[in-house]
Amino acid sequence: MTGTRAEGGTLYVVATPIGNLDDVSPRARAVLAKTDVIAAEDTRHTRGLLSSISAESRLIAYHEHNEEHRVPELLARLAAGDSVALVSDAGTPLISDPGWRLVRAAQDAGFAVVPVPGACAAIVALCAAGLPTDRFVFEGFLPRREGPRDERLAALKRERRTLVFYEAVHRIPATLAALVGAFGGERRAALARELTKIHEQIVVGTLTELHARLDGEIPLLGEFVIVVAGDTSEAPADLAEAQRVYALLAAEIDPGTALKLTAAITGIARNDLYRLLRT
Ligand code: SAM
Repeated sequence: MTGTRAEGGTLYVVATPIGNLDDVSPRARAVLAKTDVIAAEDTRHTRGLLSSISAESRLIAYHEHNEEHRVPELLARLAAGDSVALVSDAGTPLISDPGWRLVRAAQDAGFAVVPVPGACAAIVALCAAGLPTDRFVFEGFLPRREGPRDERLAALKRERRTLVFYEAVHRIPATLAALVGAFGGERRAALARELTKIHEQIVVGTLTELHARLDGEIPLLGEFVIVVAGDTSEAPADLAEAQRVYALLAAEIDPGTALKLTAAITGIARNDLYRLLRT
């Protein structure tokens, strides 16, 4: 564990709106009004948000392409006693946005890191998806190339928690088709479009239904979050028990016999068991 230095500045990680400008919190405004440096993904974009605060001279660009040299520069500012605010174009920094390297470096150097919370598209989408939220996984953006994307989806097929994906608008049709292919068309899901904006739209249905409604009822415009129900095809306890039984047997006897006996003991069909144990 790293202690926090008594001297030196503070790094604030400040969430900004994902659309509706009224979602900027009074605390975020106050922090942005007082910090010595505002490290922003796109300074022009943030300048608009901060129009009521005189921020011009304090803005510097911080994005994935200049992160490497910005981190030492910002650490030097913190060491000089300056306070630094990190913001991204929209929502919460570090969530599918740059910043974790700066947070890590600030912590390692002993500077205080203070999160200033606000909107995050993943959480906003989850709130309106009507899917279980007691446990969920945030998958961010899927790989762009078809092969790695499908591999990722295959690995998630048996995920029992609700899944949250970010996706660029032009890839929405292909990604929904891939989700149908990987999880089956009957899986329940939600498409959350333009959250907190004028054309906000949250559409729920099966993956097949959502795919069929694209480009008609669901315009391919704006920003999207895809929320997908977790797999409910087997009770988790059954799978855990089957894994335990199979592991015990496979340690003693050949895999084929272990599978056959596990099927007999647990009552799960051999084919289903094979599929479940493979994932
Ligand atoms: N850091 C941001 C956050 O806290 O949500 C996310 C940044 S990530 C680069 C951008 C992605 O977030 C978009 O492609 C989209 O999937 C999602 N997103 C951001 N704003 C959104 C909105 N208003 N409605 C729906 N999705 C949004």
